[in-house]
Amino acid sequence: MVRLYIQIASSTDADFSPRKTASEEDVQAYAKKILQPYSIEWERVEWYSVYPIGQGISDNYTLDHRVFLGGDACHTHSPKAGQGMNTAFLDAQNLAWKINLVERGFADRSLLHTYEFERKDVAETLLSFDNKYAKLFSQKPPSASAVAAASESTPAVQESHGDNQFVQVFKEGCEFTSGYGVKYQPSVITWSPQHPVQSPVVQPEGSKLRPGRLMINADVTRVVDANVVHLEQEVPMNGSFRIFVFAGKLDLTKGALRDLEQGLRKRSSFYATYERQDVKTVSHHEKHNPHSHFFTFCIIFANKRPEVEISRDVPGLLAQYRDHVYADNLWSRRVPDAHASAHAKMDLDQDRGGVIVVRPDGYIAFVTSLIEGTGTVDALNGYFGSFCTKKIGQDSAHL
Ligand SMILES: Cc1cc2nc3c(=O)[nH]c(=O)nc-3n(C[C@H](O)[C@H](O)[C@H](O)COP(=O)(O)OP(=O)(O)OC[C@H]3O[C@@H](n4cnc5c(N)ncnc54)[C@H](O)[C@@H]3O)c2cc1C
Repeated sequence: MVRLYIQIASSTDADFSPRKTASEEDVQAYAKKILQPYSIEWERVEWYSVYPIGQGISDNYTLDHRVFLGGDACHTHSPKAGQGMNTAFLDAQNLAWKINLVERGFADRSLLHTYEFERKDVAETLLSFDNKYAKLFSQKPPSASAVAAASESTPAVQESHGDNQFVQVFKEGCEFTSGYGVKYQPSVITWSPQHPVQSPVVQPEGSKLRPGRLMINADVTRVVDANVVHLEQEVPMNGSFRIFVFAGKLDLTKGALRDLEQGLRKRSSFYATYERQDVKTVSHHEKHNPHSHFFTFCIIFANKRPEVEISRDVPGLLAQYRDHVYADNLWSRRVPDAHASAHAKMDLDQDRGGVIVVRPDGYIAFVTSLIEGTGTVDALNGYFGSFCTKKIGQDSAHL
């Protein structure tokens, strides 16, 4: 099946009407004309429609944070960038995990306020990109060579089209059209220097990991079965925060991992506060959420797989995530000199590691160093404490 977009009216036409309509035969005639000197015939038409490229965005995505709008109901634009369905899906996904956390009693209701805040901003960025993009298509069709140059990486070809507006806009939009361009603005769930949690361990110096962006893809070896896996896909979209503990070299971070585990055990920690009530009877098959539906852990060592012995190297509680223990031992062309490519891609110290909290929708929320003492767990308590329903990380909770 082939999909054709046929322009039947242009704003430069003398008799321009954005509501101009056309029969199936009219549209086919336009297509034939456009494709000359080539020809086109149809065996059958599955579906056709005529519509104006219309941009719109609703003032609000919600009524009192009880009724929510998503998808085409609150934003429309041209189909040129292929983003309408993607954006509608991501609206739904963004709202779903937030409603889930609120309904389960993990997150404060105010978490729902971040839905409109995050998703309206994305739609506005999309509309502004689409505006530029659709204009380019409507004004003058790009030449075949310009389209080729836009996706070509040869410097000579790029140079010859360097000042071509179509090429420039296409390239600017690549991140967006590939789905990696979404960037959530700082809020209580997306750390920034204005976030309530301020600590020297948060967002370690030199880290280029950007809270609000999707976690970077990385392949690692799962220790229990030696399978090479995509780390970012290891935890399904099950509503849980994913806490990726990049544990560096296991002989260097032994103390830090032990202190993290000890800190999690404290009754006032986010971990203990949101432990499942049925924790003692959870089946060992439940590999993603043995302790809580609020979060899950993955532990990645910058070691070769045979060097990692889960029962010896992963302390106590964390060892229960044995299906989520990995060796970062695969070469990557993106970081060819790294001895631990996943650590390097995340901009974390390959020997000392760090901790990345990823939201249930896959976006980076919070990054901290992995250090000995209570600094790491304090930072995690602070992060979860800033939007969850109970007070955590307070010593008084022991009383
Ligand atoms: C020609 C064309 C090409 C496109 N190409 C792309 C593309 O390549 N990539 C892309 O990402 N997007 C594309 N889109 C956009 C994409 O299809 C939409 O953005 C997306 O479907 C929006 O999803 P939605 O769930 O918000 O709305 P919809 O998919 O419109 O779903 C709304 C549903 O609600 C139903 N409904 C309406 N009123 C009622 C009612 N009163 N009671 C019960 N049900 C009701 C409708 O029947 C419909 O099933 C294209 C759109 C068009 C028109």
